[in-house]
Amino acid sequence: MPNNKRLIVISAPSGGGKSVVSRYLLSKYPKSRFSISATTRQMRPGEANGKDYFFLSHDEFKSRIDKGDLVEFEEIFGNFYGTLKSEIEKAMNDGSILLFDIDVKGAFSIKKAFPEDSLLIFLAPKSIEVLEERLRGRGTETEEQIKKRLARSEMEIKLAKDFDYIVVNDLLEDTFKKMDEIMEKHVQ
Ligand code: ADP
Ligand code: 5GP
Repeated sequence: MPNNKRLIVISAPSGGGKSVVSRYLLSKYPKSRFSISATTRQMRPGEANGKDYFFLSHDEFKSRIDKGDLVEFEEIFGNFYGTLKSEIEKAMNDGSILLFDIDVKGAFSIKKAFPEDSLLIFLAPKSIEVLEERLRGRGTETEEQIKKRLARSEMEIKLAKDFDYIVVNDLLEDTFKKMDEIMEKHVQ
């Protein structure tokens, strides 16, 4: 596999560690930048519009689809989430490495649209029990939302076999080390 990947896609079930791992990579690799997705979901405490997501109404999201502004989008947990073309164009123009925190189907769409540039990494939980514990421990979802997220994780884990890498996110220190190895191998 070539060593000049520019679109680094990180997927995992909800609670799998995408945010933690993305934050680590962003702090470690100066050329990396986060792909800010558009979403119709409610902003969580601590999140900021234009930093974590572009928070849009359903009508605004639909109009962005109609204008062809999205490379891909999915309906997840009753909300829409999508990657903006402008984020990818910006990265292609300024030479940055773009990190994506998106779902498995979105990851395959990015790979299909940019087969040469993208690298897909799946963060797998050690077990469903650990995933549930972390998701609950984060304390950002209601019980109903947690159930929906856990129910979806089965499908996501099944699709992981088609990713370029599967990294089991057990001890965080080891996960960061494995991510560093992957970055060294594929990102210039
Ligand atoms: P995601 O972004 O995939 O939904 P997060 O990065 O928010 O997941 O992780 C979910 C929760 O689990 C967070 O509270 C995070 O601090 C914690 N967490 C993630 N990875 C680990 C790990 N390897 N060991 C312990 N806690 C972890
Ligand atoms: P959350 O609500 O926890 O921020 O995200 C829910 C799910 O949506 C996660 O699996 C996250 O990776 C995914 N997601 C976030 N942005 C995008 C996107 O632009 N496209 C797709 N396909 N999924 C996304």
